[in-house]
Amino acid sequence: AKNSGKRTYMMFNKTMHEAVVEKTLMEARLRRTLEQQELRLLYQPQINANSGRVEGFEALLRWESPDYGLVAPPKFISLAEETGLIVEMGNWVLEQACRFSRQLHAGGSGWLYTAVNISVVQLMQEDFVEKVISVLAETGVPPQYLELEITESVLMERFEENIRKLEALRELGVRIALDDFGSGYSSLTYLKKLPIAALKMDKAFVDDIAVGGVDAAITGSIIELAHQMGLQVVAEGVENGDQLRYLREKKCDIIQGYIISRPLPPEAFIVWLQQHGG
Ligand code: C2E
Ligand code: CA
Ligand code: CA
Ligand code: CA
Repeated sequence: AKNSGKRTYMMFNKTMHEAVVEKTLMEARLRRTLEQQELRLLYQPQINANSGRVEGFEALLRWESPDYGLVAPPKFISLAEETGLIVEMGNWVLEQACRFSRQLHAGGSGWLYTAVNISVVQLMQEDFVEKVISVLAETGVPPQYLELEITESVLMERFEENIRKLEALRELGVRIALDDFGSGYSSLTYLKKLPIAALKMDKAFVDDIAVGGVDAAITGSIIELAHQMGLQVVAEGVENGDQLRYLREKKCDIIQGYIISRPLPPEAFIVWLQQHGG
């Protein structure tokens, strides 16, 4: 027992060491992403559940790394947040997405809602509101067509300050959406305090539709409740016809998911838009 205890300790140590080395390496590589132009945005359409028309798109970040290949956000966003790199990366995302929006508009489609994920680390920057204003001014995107997706983590730290910034953005006309609703600490009390226009239901609720019974009923109740609070409801991760039918029946407003389209590179998004009447 003594020996195995020691062995476990050593293995644990080695694993810890490897993990630290790996993380340091990734951090160094993450630092170069901007100057090396290794970041890419994919765009996923959002359609009106009722009319089927395209209303907007969400920008989703990818890291095209020579060392790791195409890396999805769950693998690097938290490291970018820890190191503060997310600020620069997030600014890049905001600019890039707004430029794309402008380009689509110039190409003849009406303004589409441009949804951008905002890390709480970005929001906590002193000049965040100014940054948004300047990107809107530079790209010419009307504030009403920018949607910032925030998560409940804004409620955890510097709550009052975050709310003030979100209110300032709303004053400008920018739309705020609460992402991943229901996945964390959501409390309805907090929901009332947030200056949000829309609620993005966590994919888990969309998946619950297949389960039926009480689980599906909860999804329906969330939509109803959000509407009573004057919020739009976006369902994400919609993958099949049963989910789509149920969400339509329950008057969900916006649909996003593989059933409509996977997140697409800019050129492919433009083609998709042409084929779907955008
Ligand atoms: P999210 O904001 O909840 O984004 C939705 C995720 O679901 C995306 O994963 C999207 O590709 C995926 N998805 C869309 N439709 C479906 C579907 O029908 N089925 C399934 N199974 N998945 C679907 P992705 O692109 O890997 O992004 C993961 C998370 O990373 C995002 O979750 C968001 O929290 C974060 N993220 C992405 N881009 C950014 C960014 O630019 N900045 C920040 N701060 N976070 C980002
Ligand atoms: Ca999102
Ligand atoms: Ca989400
Ligand atoms: Ca998420």
